[in-house]
Amino acid sequence: MSASKQRTYLDYNATAPIRHEIIESMSTVMAQAHNASSVHSYGREARKLVEDARIQVAKLVNVPPAQVIFNSGATEGNNTVLKYFADEQTGERILVSATEHPSVIEAVPYAEKIPVTKDGIVDLNALEKLLQERRAALVSVMWANNETGAINPIEKISEIAKRNGALLHCDAVQAAGRVPLDITGIDFLTLSAHKLGGLQGVGALVLGLCGITPSWLDGGGQEKKARAGTENVAGIMGFGMAAEIAHKNLDAYRNLKSLQIKLEKSLKNIAPEIIVHSQNTDRLVNTTMISLPGAMSETLLMSFDLEGIAVSNGSACSSGTVKSSYVLKAMGVSETIASGALRISTGWNTKEADIDAFLVAFMKIYERLKK
Ligand code: PMP
Repeated sequence: MSASKQRTYLDYNATAPIRHEIIESMSTVMAQAHNASSVHSYGREARKLVEDARIQVAKLVNVPPAQVIFNSGATEGNNTVLKYFADEQTGERILVSATEHPSVIEAVPYAEKIPVTKDGIVDLNALEKLLQERRAALVSVMWANNETGAINPIEKISEIAKRNGALLHCDAVQAAGRVPLDITGIDFLTLSAHKLGGLQGVGALVLGLCGITPSWLDGGGQEKKARAGTENVAGIMGFGMAAEIAHKNLDAYRNLKSLQIKLEKSLKNIAPEIIVHSQNTDRLVNTTMISLPGAMSETLLMSFDLEGIAVSNGSACSSGTVKSSYVLKAMGVSETIASGALRISTGWNTKEADIDAFLVAFMKIYERLKK
């Protein structure tokens, strides 16, 4: 791709661009020496920024601000909760849905998997059965899946967990700012700023009403001793702004549905064999995970990249390599179909022109592949 070529970003589920007004405000804050634990005026200023952000983030999930603990992101939040309950010696039983993010699945490798349906949501009967067989301390189910966008029936999952004496953890990273969130019935909820238009390396663990505060890091007494470490004041302030903007724009976010419809209809017109995953269930309006049978994700990703289009095969793998999706496999999708997967995810700055650019590139790549 030549340096002057227009680039199109359609990978919001990996990370969203930071909103300009947030960059500006964070730069101003970063220009100051700000330790929120200091007693001098600089410290008090920082404390106010952090507490204001706590109110903004709390509103997004409809909780009192005291229940929000800032941390370095959802990987930390998920590990903090899962590892608090994990104990291979005492055998605390933990159930995680088979399509959780690796920061849940790999936090406790011995956790048992809850199967998902072919649409990618938790199989409620299987969950009930697993819990009735033997008590579990914790059930972990994400609100919405990062690869397919499938939205889990969290209220029903909470009912089943509670009825069987288990606490519920919910990774709400991909749902935050996209669907209305409420912590009722959830004991621990994790958030990440950078999917909302905030900074990477900032997030929150939000506590429900079970009275347990899992903590992982020892050190200073920050976050009421729940999360040691000097607060990232600028990042937290930006997270607060991002949460407030996302909360106000929830209705506008739903407008992405029209782009999703256009994208999926057009793709089917060009290539009728295309499979849209999780299309028969409640799904995030910003996420379209397709499979092009016979194609390889890696080839597709590189071809789109050459056309200036940034998409993904589902998960942003740390090594930059492309593996076929364990999420699709858990949904019973065959290896042949899973290996031709491609995820298009939109967000706050996506325009119809971005979808058009994707479709033009798709047509070109598809014609080439057919030959
Ligand atoms: N959970 C989900 C569903 C995610 O999509 C991500 C980000 N890829 C994470 C957790 C990890 O979040 P963070 O980048 O803040 O560590």
